[in-house]
Amino acid sequence: MYDVVIIGAGITGTMLARKLSAYDLKIALIDKENDIANGATMANSAIIHTGYDPKDGTLMAKLNVAGANAYEELCRQLGCKYKTVGAYIAACGDEEEKHLDVLADRAQRRGIPYRFPDMDEVRGQEPNLSQNVTRVLDFYTTAVVYPWEIAIACAEVAVGNGVELYLNSPCESVERIGGGYAIRTPERVLECKLVVNAAGVYAEKIAKMISDDVDFHITPRRGEYYVLDKDAGFVKHIIFPVPSKEKGKGVLAVPTVFGNTLIGPNSDFVDDPDDNGTSDDGLAYVRGNISKTLDNVPLYRSIRTFAGLRPSSSAGDFVIEELSGAPGFINAACIESPGLASAPGVADYIIEQFISGHLTLTADENAVMTREAPVIMEELSPEEQSEMIKKDPRYGRIICRCEQISEGEIVDCIRRPCGARSVKGVKKRVRPGMGRCQGGFCEPKVVEILARELGIDPTDVVLDSLSSNILEEVNRP
Ligand SMILES: Cc1cc2nc3c(=O)[nH]c(=O)nc-3n(C[C@H](O)[C@H](O)[C@H](O)COP(=O)(O)OP(=O)(O)OC[C@H]3O[C@@H](n4cnc5c(N)ncnc54)[C@H](O)[C@@H]3O)c2cc1C
Repeated sequence: MYDVVIIGAGITGTMLARKLSAYDLKIALIDKENDIANGATMANSAIIHTGYDPKDGTLMAKLNVAGANAYEELCRQLGCKYKTVGAYIAACGDEEEKHLDVLADRAQRRGIPYRFPDMDEVRGQEPNLSQNVTRVLDFYTTAVVYPWEIAIACAEVAVGNGVELYLNSPCESVERIGGGYAIRTPERVLECKLVVNAAGVYAEKIAKMISDDVDFHITPRRGEYYVLDKDAGFVKHIIFPVPSKEKGKGVLAVPTVFGNTLIGPNSDFVDDPDDNGTSDDGLAYVRGNISKTLDNVPLYRSIRTFAGLRPSSSAGDFVIEELSGAPGFINAACIESPGLASAPGVADYIIEQFISGHLTLTADENAVMTREAPVIMEELSPEEQSEMIKKDPRYGRIICRCEQISEGEIVDCIRRPCGARSVKGVKKRVRPGMGRCQGGFCEPKVVEILARELGIDPTDVVLDSLSSNILEEVNRP
């Protein structure tokens, strides 16, 4: 019997799996997808918000601050990207300026660094800031990350410490058994003492598998983005409008860790929890609203668009609780923004408030909580690159010309623990296909490498899910 089964391998589930793997416990982490972090963790603004936005007294406020404070060190331990870029909250006119004081007051009470910079300095830093902007609040410790890299790294550490990861394993039912629960997936039944429901937009559905007494309702809320090419170099800071009750944090410009710029998101409720395509209306909203704070937005430099779904809730806060009438069934539900920034805090909270009350937590002396970062050739000095190529010539063969990714890096990301099993899996880990050509040149090569490394026929290589084959065998006469 497992001590804990975690349903959902997004940032919430993987962060918890890594933290729990420090203890002498038998743990399984399951996900319905063919890769880690295919839900909201794959499609968001990637900002480690400092914690000024959530309302006083909420779990969001408490866990955002705790999570944000932990991220830089965590990313160092995991060999993950973390870039402090700072966030400008841009107010237009008297009313919005007053709201900056409210945010500053919250930040003061929560120990979050901030300042009101001189507008000449701001315009020097951000020449494209709209003339409508009259005052700026600078949260200069705000950082950006590569969210799914962190989830994958957490899963790698957890699996290295003995956590069993089951992908392509949708939880179909949860039943009460003596001493715990039985989680049924198409291929196995996992019996466990405790369940953590970290299933994102599906968390309500999972909770209802075990209780009728679920007092939150999740509605997917879509956010759509443009991704600008790397050398568009449009903003140095994250540029936020003043947040509002109706549209949340609003339409932003975000410089990413790899030098692209994100423009978005909108905020539209949708019915289908799998409907993460972009829409004409959503992107028109983004185009129309970014001009509130920025001029000259180079949308003609857009290389792709994407959308993510927030698990928006009637509760207006994270719902992290032991489900009433189901002892040992723990919901980590309604984890909408700032769920990424809060994830380390969420994991600690679940362990301290719930798991430690059920299980004896004995440290596993053999657990290793750090990870060796994968080699990124582009970031090495010419001497280090030559050394790598001497050791393994595949590091000298460039497969993705836009992002300068070598065959060696792709092979490594397939061979690592929790390695890539699909073209999208490779793209998420080492970026071929993330650049200007969006895989036009490198994708056939990636298919070839995947087929060779996995020992499968190229027609069996998938884009993402198990049924998303790319090639088809054609019998020519
Ligand atoms: C547009 C947008 C912008 C955002 N921007 C930010 C930001 O800048 N900063 C920030 O802090 N937060 C941001 N967020 C919020 C953040 O992305 C989420 O809070 C966070 O990713 C939630 O992680 P999660 O692991 O709880 O959920 P998810 O990442 O959605 O993971 C849930 C997992 O559960 C799996 N699952 C579902 N059903 C089942 C089942 N039946 N069986 C097995 N597995 C199942 C899914 O496949 C998925 O992998 C944003 C979100 C969106 C959508």
